[in-house]
Amino acid sequence: MKTIFVVRLFLALLFTTVVLSAQDQGASSSAPSNAVITSPTNVAPSTSATPTTTNPASASCPQGMVCPHDEKMVLPADVHPALKSYCSVPVDGPYIAMSFDDGPSPTLTPRLLDMLKQRGIKVTFFVIGQNVEHSPEVVARAAAEGHEIGNHTWDHPALTKLSDARVQEEINKTSEAIFSATGKKPVLLRPPYGAMNPRVHRIVDQDGMKVVLWSVDPNDWKRPGSAVVERRILAGAKPGAIILSHDIHPGTIEAMPATLDALLAKGYKFVTVSELIAMESQHPKAITTTPASSTAPTTKK
Ligand SMILES: [Zn+2]
Repeated sequence: MKTIFVVRLFLALLFTTVVLSAQDQGASSSAPSNAVITSPTNVAPSTSATPTTTNPASASCPQGMVCPHDEKMVLPADVHPALKSYCSVPVDGPYIAMSFDDGPSPTLTPRLLDMLKQRGIKVTFFVIGQNVEHSPEVVARAAAEGHEIGNHTWDHPALTKLSDARVQEEINKTSEAIFSATGKKPVLLRPPYGAMNPRVHRIVDQDGMKVVLWSVDPNDWKRPGSAVVERRILAGAKPGAIILSHDIHPGTIEAMPATLDALLAKGYKFVTVSELIAMESQHPKAITTTPASSTAPTTKK
């Protein structure tokens, strides 16, 4: 009996350890360089409907939005009206902004740049400073081809957990790396994990930068496969949307030709995040995004 009890106790402990370890990995898996692959558990429903009329994006971030790491996101606009984050932008046209985080990747980002160039699409890259230091030529090319480069910190910490001095260091060092690669200082910051609070927001504001979050998250860092990434982006896209994805995962890059072509076919126009913010409308109209076959691209897959 005693032996059986000991064996059962051992098995129970082993199970608990495995579960806790899996949760830990899930919580750290969007770290840039050592991402852990987890199997997708919540595949978005397949909504292939093409809207003919789409309500514009709301002006503020969704209430109760939770960042990818279960840390409750503090929405600065709710806490202090002067502190504004952009999840989406109300606009008077079928404009959307694609954004790619955590790069540059020396191999995948150039492939993505080729795809964007073929389609005349401009996007925004939120780059990690230490990756810019490794591949400055990739960032220089992206900027030269008309894409916007935003700051995504030096090594991807949750800024809310750092001192003021460390937050400033993460931002400054990255902005300097971007400046030395492109000749331009970034004006946008995307906080890793979406982690933001009024204290960090004020530091970003004092640096003259805007805080940019997102309204569409395909969870591509969990590597659900390119078809799922495509389906989730298409399901979430609406005028004024800011779409999040990562140019460090092969599946995301593989999803892009079909995703971009489908969005173009629906009549969406791609702009950078700063261009989208400049289009902000106080009284946005409902926008008709009838699939315009005449303007849809021919097969470029
Ligand atoms: Zn990131």
